Amino acid sequence: MPNKNISEAFGFATRAVHGGNEADRETGAIRRPITMANSYELPYDPTNINWSGTGGNLYTRNGGANQAYLQQKLALLHGTEDCVVLATGVAALSGVFFACLKSGDHAVVSDSTYIATYRLMHELLPEKYGIHTTLVDSSDMASVRAAIKRNTRLIHIETPANPTLKVSDIRIIAEIAHANRALLSVDNTFASPYNQLPNALGADLTVESLTKYINGHGDALGGAVLGAKPLIDKIRGEAMVNLGGAISPFNAWLIMRGAVTLPLRMRQHNESAQKIATFLANQPQVRFVAYPGLESDKGHTVAKSQTVNGYGGTLAFGLNADHDAHCRFVSHLRVITSAVSLGHDESLIVYLGENDERQYLYPEEFHNGFFRLSVGLEDAEDIIADIRQALGNTGLF
Ligand SMILES: *Cc1c(COP(=O)(O)O)cnc(C)c1O
Repeated sequence: MPNKNISEAFGFATRAVHGGNEADRETGAIRRPITMANSYELPYDPTNINWSGTGGNLYTRNGGANQAYLQQKLALLHGTEDCVVLATGVAALSGVFFACLKSGDHAVVSDSTYIATYRLMHELLPEKYGIHTTLVDSSDMASVRAAIKRNTRLIHIETPANPTLKVSDIRIIAEIAHANRALLSVDNTFASPYNQLPNALGADLTVESLTKYINGHGDALGGAVLGAKPLIDKIRGEAMVNLGGAISPFNAWLIMRGAVTLPLRMRQHNESAQKIATFLANQPQVRFVAYPGLESDKGHTVAKSQTVNGYGGTLAFGLNADHDAHCRFVSHLRVITSAVSLGHDESLIVYLGENDERQYLYPEEFHNGFFRLSVGLEDAEDIIADIRQALGNTGLF
């Protein structure tokens, strides 16, 4: 039941505001209420109910009201047939891997990804379930093609990738996947649907960590998978009902509220990150900056060919300095907070030191330790001034 007939024909901001919302039938309130119930009333004769079903309102692990509203909004933003929202981004990723792969199958995975993707695909699924995986530099099409095997069923990429901002070509990798009867899933968390729509570029599944830009306020965890209904239904049944990754109604409500301002916030994140990346690239103490919005960035051309509105709010950089000076720099920051996560209203920085176990997979400039900076919604001038004074106080020349 789409409200006000909000369809994909409307602009992104209109869909962000109205998608999934409708007046409450009981009270007339013009916002969806939070339905904090585990269970829904059964019919007169419940004996034919499929207790593992995902259709109607039965039990909140099988589906709930707030979850359904958020799914409507996100499917409208991505222009996909269906969406499932889950407890976390990692629940969404494991749902995709669990639904698309079985023992004996092979998957090709980007070599720069969120850490849990690496752990699942490089260790847990191969060791425990006999799923074979190959980590590849997915920015290099020859490497992707060379990694395909007879039993490859899934290619999973992240673009721009966490934490290196490496960019992969979604259109070409979708063609490679489909020519080999494999599916392509894309972790779109760094871009969000405001900047990039993987399904429109040929991907079968898009994964979003709602925890990041889509919620945007750093106060709830959530994840989503978007795509065609048969595949999403399978993930809903397996990942939500049977693996148990259901989102709480309150978190779904919070994320629905946060998503309303996604286009406004992303516009600011894109603009401020571009300014800050440019500032950093001109500082003598800065050894390198990785941000696809910089024309000098290795991923710029591909990123430009597949972005809708910009290059996101997250970047990586390193200093011409030793380990301790990197830590000292962070200790001098006054506006930017040292904490993991990204896409929050406040700027966040994390130092990934040279003993990060995945350094061997990263491009060379990342080998001596680097920062991941999530540029927040503060005034860009204040963020730049904060970096400038911290560089000064670190004692670098
Ligand atoms: C944070 C993140 C995830 C995991 O999301 P959670 O909501 O923390 O489980 C997955 N992919 C990327 C790219 C991320 O940045």
